[in-house]
Amino acid sequence: MDITLLFYYVLLLVIIVFPFAYVQQRLKKGFESHSYQETGHLETKRLMLLDNLRDLRTEMDMQKLTLSEFQDLSSEIVGNLQEVDKEISEQKLSFQKTNPNKNECMECHYIVKIEGAKFCPMCGTQLSV
Ligand SMILES: [Zn+2]
Repeated sequence: MDITLLFYYVLLLVIIVFPFAYVQQRLKKGFESHSYQETGHLETKRLMLLDNLRDLRTEMDMQKLTLSEFQDLSSEIVGNLQEVDKEISEQKLSFQKTNPNKNECMECHYIVKIEGAKFCPMCGTQLSV
């Protein structure tokens, strides 16, 4: 076998594998930084509840559920959703109380150095004014 062919073969393999390895690394990092944040956990719960609600709605549209069944099931989910929303806003409030530094983002804890910035440059969360 030609040695240059072997070289190009290895190079091609690296080019193909690299994006996957990179993305996996990024996902791992993102997961680690979020798994210890309670708000992140609550946001996930919230998204799951919204997903469930959407599923129920789809099932009703496909006439697998009657309107009263839908209302029963969805009222439970909406109740949970309100609880989660309350917990999230409570956590944000307590974060603001314990962190008087208004330049710190409450989502990613990035210190915003731009004077009068309204949004976090790292994650886009609206900053408290
Ligand atoms: Zn941020």
